[in-house]
Amino acid sequence: MTSSTEQSKDQGSGLPLDMIIFGGMGDLAMRKLLPALYMAFLHGNLPGSTRILSTGRQDIDRAAYLKHVEEHSRDFIAKDNFNDKTWDGFLQLLQYVKLDVQAAPRFDTLEAASRQGAQRVFYLSTAPSLFTTICDKLAATGLVDENARVVLEKPLGTDLASAIEINEDVGRYFAESQIYRIDHYLGKETVQNLMVLRFGNSILEPLWRAPNISSVQITVAEEVGVGSRAGFYDGAGAMRDMVQNHLLQLLCIVAMEPPTSLNADAVRDEKLKVLRSLRRMGLADIARDTVRGQYIRGVSGNQEVPGYHEEKNVPPESHTETFVALRAFIDTWRWSKVPFYLRTGKRMRSRSSKIVIEFANPPFPLFHQNAGAVANRLVIELQPEEAIKLQLMAKQPGSGMETQQVSLNLDLQSAMPQRRAEAYERLLIDVVRGRLTHFMRRDELEAAWQWADPIIEGWQTLAEKPHPYAAGSWGPAESFALLARDGYSWVE
Ligand code: NAP
Repeated sequence: MTSSTEQSKDQGSGLPLDMIIFGGMGDLAMRKLLPALYMAFLHGNLPGSTRILSTGRQDIDRAAYLKHVEEHSRDFIAKDNFNDKTWDGFLQLLQYVKLDVQAAPRFDTLEAASRQGAQRVFYLSTAPSLFTTICDKLAATGLVDENARVVLEKPLGTDLASAIEINEDVGRYFAESQIYRIDHYLGKETVQNLMVLRFGNSILEPLWRAPNISSVQITVAEEVGVGSRAGFYDGAGAMRDMVQNHLLQLLCIVAMEPPTSLNADAVRDEKLKVLRSLRRMGLADIARDTVRGQYIRGVSGNQEVPGYHEEKNVPPESHTETFVALRAFIDTWRWSKVPFYLRTGKRMRSRSSKIVIEFANPPFPLFHQNAGAVANRLVIELQPEEAIKLQLMAKQPGSGMETQQVSLNLDLQSAMPQRRAEAYERLLIDVVRGRLTHFMRRDELEAAWQWADPIIEGWQTLAEKPHPYAAGSWGPAESFALLARDGYSWVE
């Protein structure tokens, strides 16, 4: 299938909905998908005739599945939103279909459970190595029609070749307009708000370019370690797990040109141009502009925690990075010479995701300013709280003209006290309504890998060990040096 996408329909299809979850017993289904579907149900955002068919290999009946959901999913719904009556109503929607997708020659059990004429949404919450088999057998069983949609969870490949393979295999049966590649960062309220902030106001856009913006920082820091995911994580590392998808998607929203409409392709065309304009790195650039790190034993949340090598299922000689910091450039008129600093890591000081837009200081220093002080920053906080702050210089009270940085906080919560849906809830509603804007298109995914692959290969060629950093810190010293060299520092 080609990457061109039909205009996405903004409404549901009007058909009864069968939401079919592959990996319906798994961690993601329990922690995120079912709670998100419950919330959508609670707020009347699922069609009245919805059914959720969870598939898994275990030989259990519906009652045992519902017990599993009670035990493993219910606690992930915020207490304020929980009520027994709605929960019971929600459980009525759930069915369990025993299905080993590799062993079963066809998906007859699923066909028997799914309604004729329903709109089928297939949520592939399994390892991507199963995507091809699942799609082949869905099609062979006659379950894919023009109303069907498929949602693909990350990781979408480990490099360009494997991403192309997934795209080809899924695209054999689903048109691009039926494929929803999920990146939950695109479902965050603040990320979507950034587009409104940029393109719904005229005061920012004239400033939103070089040389008015001197640098951009994007940080996605996790406090947790690799936990039980070591088996998967050690083969991936922070570049594949976080940078290639989440951080690049955030970079696209910051850097894209105004789209001509909110149509999914109009928005994704602009994001694609950003990805294609990212400067490719050669070996010298990689050595100079990227930092890999790996956590060692340290203190996190007042507790001593093990280093990466001490985690279960991590090979003792693993050189997998749990931290990446890098400097990227976008070769366009708008962003010429503006460094984009990206940083992500596990076991960092705190869970914090933010975008910092740093504006150039006034050209003439009329007021005394401490060396290195930055007058204006726009800080977009995504986690743990969502907030937007504009930092400005103001006069300190008193007889002199001493300045101080103060923050103008956009108090969206007070201005709009409505409930904010979680990213997965919002994105699942988008899938049900056929809105593709906040999902990655095939060519975006491939362009992201085209940029990331040479960096990963370069690290292999350079064969340097990742720099150690203590768990509970903000990463290795080299990450600070990366910015200090250009006269900047990370905004914590
Ligand atoms: P998980 O807990 O290991 O669940 C995987 C699911 O796949 C299990 O329910 C398992 O079914 C099912 N499965 C495996 N082999 C199967 C087969 N042959 N036939 C049918 N079902 C099979 O993994 P997860 O954490 O939920 O993650 C699922 C996917 O989402 C992964 O690709 C992961 O990288 C991605 N993801 C996860 C998270 C997260 O927070 N967990 C976040 C982002 C992306 P059984 O119950 O029968 O074993």
